[in-house]
Amino acid sequence: MPWVNQDLCVGCGVCVDECPVEAITQDQDSKAIIDDDKCIRCGKCHDVCPQDAVRHDSERIPQEVEANITKTKELLTHFDSPQQQREFYERMIRYFNKEKKVADLTIAKITDMKNAISKEK
Ligand code: SF4
Ligand code: SF4
Repeated sequence: MPWVNQDLCVGCGVCVDECPVEAITQDQDSKAIIDDDKCIRCGKCHDVCPQDAVRHDSERIPQEVEANITKTKELLTHFDSPQQQREFYERMIRYFNKEKKVADLTIAKITDMKNAISKEK
C-alpha cells in the first residue's frame, strides 16, 4: 500500500491526475493523501511522483511495530497483578502469532495464484 510522505510532497497534483480510481486527494496545503479503501495498488502514483514522496509500505514497519507496542502498554494498565500481566502478554503474543499465520497463508495463496498465471502463458 503506497503512502505519501508529507514532508516530501510539494503538492504538484501529478499523482492525483494519474490515479485511475481517484483515490488521491489534496489537503488544504495541497499535500496528497491516498484513500486506502479506494486504492487498487497499481503503483502509478509511485512511478510519476517527481519528489519520490510516494513511499512503499515496508518503510512504515518500524512505526507499525511501535504502534503495536504502545497499544500493548496501554492495555497492560488494565491488569494489576504479575500473574494477570503475564497472561495478558500471552494473549497478545497469541494474537500477533495468529496475524502472522494469516499473513503467511495469504502470501502462499497469492503466490499460487501468481504462479498459475505464469503457467498459463
Ligand atoms: S506527485 Fe508527489 S509531490 Fe506531487 S502531489 Fe503527488 S505525492 Fe505530492
Ligand atoms: S497505487 Fe494506483 S490506485 Fe493507488 S493511489 Fe496510487 S495511483 Fe491510485
